Amino acid sequence: MIPIPSHAQTVLTVLEQNGYDAYLVGGCVRDSLLGDTPSDYDITTNATPQQVLAAFSAYHTVETGLQHGTVTVVVDSVPVEVTTFRIDGDYHDNRRPDCVTFTGNLRDDLARRDFTVNAMAYRPSTGLVDCFGGQQDLRARLIRCVGVPDIRFGEDALRILRALRFAAVLGFTIEPETAKSIHKNKLLLNHIAAERIQAEFFKLLCGINPAPLLDEYRDVLAVFLPEITAMFGFAQHTKYHDSDVWRHSLRALASIEAHSLPLRLAAFLHDIGKPACFTMDEDGIGHFYGHAKQSVELTRNLLNRLKCDNATKHAVLTLIEYHDAELAPTKKSVKRWLGRLGPELFFDLLRLQAADSKAHAAPYVAPRLHALGQIRTLAQEVLDEGACFSLRDLAVNGRDMITLGLEGRQIGAALDYLLTLVIDGAAENEKTVLLHAVQGWIEETHTSNT
Ligand code: ATP
Ligand code: MG
Repeated sequence: MIPIPSHAQTVLTVLEQNGYDAYLVGGCVRDSLLGDTPSDYDITTNATPQQVLAAFSAYHTVETGLQHGTVTVVVDSVPVEVTTFRIDGDYHDNRRPDCVTFTGNLRDDLARRDFTVNAMAYRPSTGLVDCFGGQQDLRARLIRCVGVPDIRFGEDALRILRALRFAAVLGFTIEPETAKSIHKNKLLLNHIAAERIQAEFFKLLCGINPAPLLDEYRDVLAVFLPEITAMFGFAQHTKYHDSDVWRHSLRALASIEAHSLPLRLAAFLHDIGKPACFTMDEDGIGHFYGHAKQSVELTRNLLNRLKCDNATKHAVLTLIEYHDAELAPTKKSVKRWLGRLGPELFFDLLRLQAADSKAHAAPYVAPRLHALGQIRTLAQEVLDEGACFSLRDLAVNGRDMITLGLEGRQIGAALDYLLTLVIDGAAENEKTVLLHAVQGWIEETHTSNT
């Protein structure tokens, strides 16, 4: 028995009342059998898209992809995708079928699906339909192609990355024949659009434990992330590190528990600029001057190529830029950082620095983690006190500065000066106090300018 929410049940019932066969299919069946709550419910049916539209004439429907057989039906404000049983035509570009044919046969529809665990259907009246050993693979926690892997990856190379994504997200391993075929066919990923690669790669990174998978399939990742190759086996020659740049990065990634995309990306890529910045001094010690900036540049390029959204990019690049900034365990310093990054990004930076530290040689880990713990406590105190740490919190604003006769750049400079006074504890965050202080500042800058 699979629990079915009422909106999905309604779609099944309406189709059956109209004389059609209808099943839950794909991810929702897989997740339900695993005991997880599916994110959405897809339905497959022998009704053609036109018949589906007619059956749901009383509902809001969206013609999502009629030529592929998909109609979205909205029930109780929840969209449910209904797709006609179909067979994909020939593939000529390793991307998409040239055409699709509708079929009356559920088995044919299941056969076109990517992996056995994604190729099961279910309806309450007749139970589970599992033609390709999906249940067995679920129990063994295996990702296995439906059919011959070389053929399936040749049809649609995105499946290569989908295999890695499902393995990471579900915590599964990839069945050996499928794994071998992934390595063999990896270059076909060059035919896939950046947006589709990005979607699967980002989900992969946010999986349960992506690091071992990234390591095992680093050759596959390198097809669309050639920059990472320089990290493989790159020895660091410093006492702070007991692993090469690639392994260090994976260790840092492995200790990011939050499934936060920017944090995971930052942990994975924070040292990608190291190989290009490497120098060795006469004592044989390695240095990586300027590597944070170099990592930012390489990562910016990489994320642009993947068509990453701006908010994610901004967060990742900021985290990487400051990943090795020396944060001091003082309230003053903490307030400055809170002001500069905002609380969310600052706490993420602390997480990144902790993950980075944990991936260092053992003697250096505990002291750094201790300091980071202190900084986190201080930051929490600052927030709990409602203390002032940004221009937004300041008891005066730009308009007040204009009233005092300031203009242009002077306004920002005056506010920065006041914020520093308040953060340093040299002035109370009160309007009269600050207006008085800024008058002194105006006189001083005026005299020093004349
Ligand atoms: P998620 O929880 O991420 O939504 P999902 O299994 O529903 O997982 P989708 O990408 O939404 O994944 O795809 C829905 C279903 O469509 C899959 O379970 C699979 O059966 C089929 N499918 C999707 N993409 C492909 C593909 N490229 N090749 C073959 N079958 C696919
Ligand atoms: Mg889905």
